[in-house]
Amino acid sequence: MGKPHVIVIPYPAQGHVLPMLELSQWLVKNGIKVTFVNTEFNHERVLKSLSDSDNIRETVTMVYIPDGVEPWEDRNDLGKLTEAMSRVMPGELESLIGKLNGKEGGEKITGVIADGQLSWAIEVAHKIGVKKAAFYPASVASVASLLNVPNLVSDGIIDNNGRILKDQMIQLSPTIPLMHSTNFVWASVGDEATQKIIFDMLSKFSITNKLADWQICNSSYDLEPGAFSLVPNIIPVGPLLASNRLGKSAGYFWPEDSACLAWLDQQPINSVIYVAFGSLTVFEQTQFEEVALGLELTNMPFLWVVRQDITADINEAYPKGFSDRVQNRGLIVSWAPQQQVLSHPSVACFVSHCGWNSTIEGVSNGVPFICWPYFADQFLNQSYICDEWKVGLRLDKDESGIIRHGEIKDKLENLLSDESYKERALNLQTKTMDSVREGCSHKNFNNFIEWIKDD
Ligand code: UDP
Repeated sequence: MGKPHVIVIPYPAQGHVLPMLELSQWLVKNGIKVTFVNTEFNHERVLKSLSDSDNIRETVTMVYIPDGVEPWEDRNDLGKLTEAMSRVMPGELESLIGKLNGKEGGEKITGVIADGQLSWAIEVAHKIGVKKAAFYPASVASVASLLNVPNLVSDGIIDNNGRILKDQMIQLSPTIPLMHSTNFVWASVGDEATQKIIFDMLSKFSITNKLADWQICNSSYDLEPGAFSLVPNIIPVGPLLASNRLGKSAGYFWPEDSACLAWLDQQPINSVIYVAFGSLTVFEQTQFEEVALGLELTNMPFLWVVRQDITADINEAYPKGFSDRVQNRGLIVSWAPQQQVLSHPSVACFVSHCGWNSTIEGVSNGVPFICWPYFADQFLNQSYICDEWKVGLRLDKDESGIIRHGEIKDKLENLLSDESYKERALNLQTKTMDSVREGCSHKNFNNFIEWIKDD
């Protein structure tokens, strides 16, 4: 028997590719060969964005298959993308595995580790007869909430297509935070057609749950003890982050602007507001301006990640004279090496959209949050940050649905003037890091490795 050789295949979004490449590097470090399967579109942009110091291609074999979306179509349309993928990618994955297995002298594929959202990849592995594991780059609470879908339908809260019929707070289980029905994971993703496609994909969680030999999750028991009790067969192994591996994260869709690290070096300890909304958040013009004005009003140094596509016309989006007024204390970049930024001592707090990766990265560095969820599981993550761990504050919208600059300034001041947020953030950091260094997550991950290696 040769070296164990696994396929790792993520859902094609930044918040999935990054943690699954991180997982891959941990596997390689433990003597497992990894072939990482991106969509063709993401493969190209990941390679294009690699910096000179990235050595990911020397450790992980990067390959691609098509996603079924035409080159000119919009891949941020998650409905279209998800639907096309499930039509085209199962066949492509199967033939890729066939080709890899037919390679003279190559190690045969012994397992598939698929994103928990890609039940079809688990089905392919099942058909071929190799080991199959699911990896969830999300909180286990958001996965566990899907178990309740049949009850939500029978209680008349949603219909069979996931459409919300009742606008109300829901207690899915006494062990996870209350959720508003309009904030269910699929309910805020795009238009009604998109929501149905995402709902269908997430509902197939039951297939993964039934077929996968192992299900692992980038979280830890300390972060969400109540949620793990709902799905005891999903095992926490996280947070798997580059800094815990003494490495650098790889797999950005856009080139990082690492000059911001040198800029952070120039700032006083614990003084900088770091502002980043992940890879998919978009803002209306008015809301974007309010973010800018809020940061201006605080009078503190800030590092703000503004992706080129965060609002319709980025060149016209800033308030008049803004850049001149903040030039001595504000830095705007189009993509930051976020994990390195969050571990920098100059960073005081994180204004975040509460994507799960951003959440565990902030937690692992003991940084308190101002929460600004955009869609999907981010509202549930906000509840953990603000209500369970008490390491952050929410922002309130005004009657027209906008978060105003005064609100941003007030919440930042409240957060930073009350030391208890930082104290709790540091306590949570200690617990979380202990788990991944020598505690439960560490043991679970070692057991997972042993299972992959076992003949
Ligand atoms: N990220 C980054 N640089 C940025 C913004 C984000 O490296 O300027 C990374 C961040 O560290 C995280 C990922 O992109 O690992 C975003 O994932 P998350 O789950 O937070 O949000 P999503 O993009 O999926 O909404």
